[in-house]
Order: sequence, then C-alpha cells, then structure tokens
Amino acid sequence: MAELPPTDTPSLLARLPGVTALALTIVAKADLSPAIIELELAGPLEGLVAAPGNDLMLAVPVEGGDGSFRRRYSIRSIDAHTGRLRLWIDRAAGGPGARWAATAELGTTIEAIGPRGKVTLDTLADWHLFIGDLSFLSAAYNMAEAIEPPGQALFVIEADERSHLPIPALADGIGVTMGIIERHGRGLDDPTGLLAGLAAIDFPEDDGHVYIGGELQVVAAMRRSLIERGITAEQISSKPYWRLGTSNLAHGEPQKS
Ligand SMILES: Cc1cc2nc3c(=O)[nH]c(=O)nc-3n(C[C@H](O)[C@H](O)[C@H](O)COP(=O)(O)OP(=O)(O)OC[C@H]3O[C@@H](n4cnc5c(N)ncnc54)[C@H](O)[C@@H]3O)c2cc1C
Repeated sequence: MAELPPTDTPSLLARLPGVTALALTIVAKADLSPAIIELELAGPLEGLVAAPGNDLMLAVPVEGGDGSFRRRYSIRSIDAHTGRLRLWIDRAAGGPGARWAATAELGTTIEAIGPRGKVTLDTLADWHLFIGDLSFLSAAYNMAEAIEPPGQALFVIEADERSHLPIPALADGIGVTMGIIERHGRGLDDPTGLLAGLAAIDFPEDDGHVYIGGELQVVAAMRRSLIERGITAEQISSKPYWRLGTSNLAHGEPQKS
C-alpha cells in the first residue's frame, strides 16, 4: 500500500491549498433521527470560504490515548456572520468518529481543517440528481439548497428506515423528486436497492449533473449504471466516503485497494 501523507496540522496546511485550521466548539447537539446526529459548532469562520458540498477534516481524538486522526464530515450549513456551522453525522459508522460525535459534550473543542472536497454544485446544470446513503445527506442537502429556480433536485437515498431521513426544505420554484430506498437488511455494500431506485428515475430533459457519495463499492456500481444509461463522465461527481469492513485511514479517506 502507498505510504500515506502526514496528517499533522502543519503538513496538511502546507500540502492542501486554500485551507485553514480552526478551533471549533460544540454549542448544540441534537438527534435529528435515530440515525443522524447534528452538531452545531462555533468558531472564527470568516476565513473559511466553503462552497456547498465542501467538508471539514476533524481531528478526532484517539480514544484512551494521545493524539488524533482525521475524519471528514460535510458542511450541512455555514454562517460566517454568526460564526456557526452544522454537521450531520451518520451513527451507522460506529467507529471512533461516530462515537466521538455521539459522546462529545457541549463545550468540547475540536480542530477542523478546511474547506476540503472537489464535489460542489454544477451551477450550469438544469437538474441535479443526488445518490447515496445517510453519510451523503449533509452534502446532498447543502448542494440542493444552492440550486436556483427553476432547477430540479432529484434524490435517491438509501436508509434503514424511511423515518431516519429528514426531508429537505428547498426554495419555491425548485422541482423536488424524493426517492427513499429502505434497506430491508441488504448488505451495506449491496447496490441493488439504489440501482432499483435509479432505474425508476426518468432523467429530465436539458443538462443534468449527478452527485454520488457513500460506500466505495456502491458508489462505483452507481457510476457504472449511470454511464450505461448515457450519462457522461463529465456529468458525474462521485466520491467514496467509506468502505465496508475497513475503517477510513488516518487522513479520513477510505482505503482504495
Ligand atoms: C469527503 C467526505 C465527506 C464525508 N461527509 C460525511 C458526513 O457529512 N456525514 C457522515 O456521517 N459521514 C461522512 N463521511 C464519511 C465518514 O467520514 C466515514 O464514514 C468515517 O469512516 C466514519 O468514521 P468512524 O471513525 O466513525 O468509522 P470508521 O472507523 O472509519 O469505520 C468503522 C466501521 O464502520 C464502517 N462504516 C464507516 N462509515 C460507515 C457508514 N457511514 N455507514 C455504515 N458503516 C460505516 C466501516 O466499514 C468500518 O467497518 C464523509 C467522508 C468523506 C471522505
């Protein structure tokens, strides 16, 4: 396996163009559903110029030890004036990142490096299709909220239960098609459910863009299916967020091979 780049703060700041390191403090916390934890964090956000779809690399503390490792979480919303941002964290990961989010108390401070991520809204597209699991919801909803009327937002999202999914409130004039796929015990790397949900979507006319986030094998299967249906590679922005059976690596990415 290729050696990972260092994940200490000075190395990341030197290696990643345009990012800043911030100390963020948890000021509110809520269970949005049995599956999603919402964290509201406060800090000096003036220098964090983030586009919808961008994420932050949190320095999650090593449990019972010293130091930290990186976990990436998409920005659900950000307000530089109030100095507040929100993250949505899928409990299903169950690893140290999800456990930190579940147990961290109000007042806890954590370092975040960002903005990160290349998947942002294609503002020239007429329709936007978001495909993934609950880990992708924060990025998907943040991008969808940036669509301007008369754009269309289509979602094909898989969750254990329909009730685990908060429904987005998009601006008047945005057409919304919400496809929620219940998992019914299928494996987390089984793309069957999302493939069926995608097959049920008739792509609107005009130019569209498709955004995919979630488990590595599922993301690859969705990408292949889209290409088979005539969507071009340029119309697809996909990002593996995690990989079944292996923890994400210390820099926050899933292991690719
Ligand atoms: C660019 C980017 C943006 C991301 N944005 C978000 C976000 O906004 N919200 C969010 O919740 N996650 C997001 N993720 C995914 C998140 O970083 C990973 O799921 C991360 O692995 C969770 O860390 P952990 O320490 O809890 O679990 P890990 O130690 O990485 O994994 C523990 C075990 O859980 C499994 N697993 C990991 N993630 C999931 C999952 N989501 N569902 C089910 N099983 C899982 C793994 O296969 C492993 O077996 C993002 C990832 C990337 C790369």
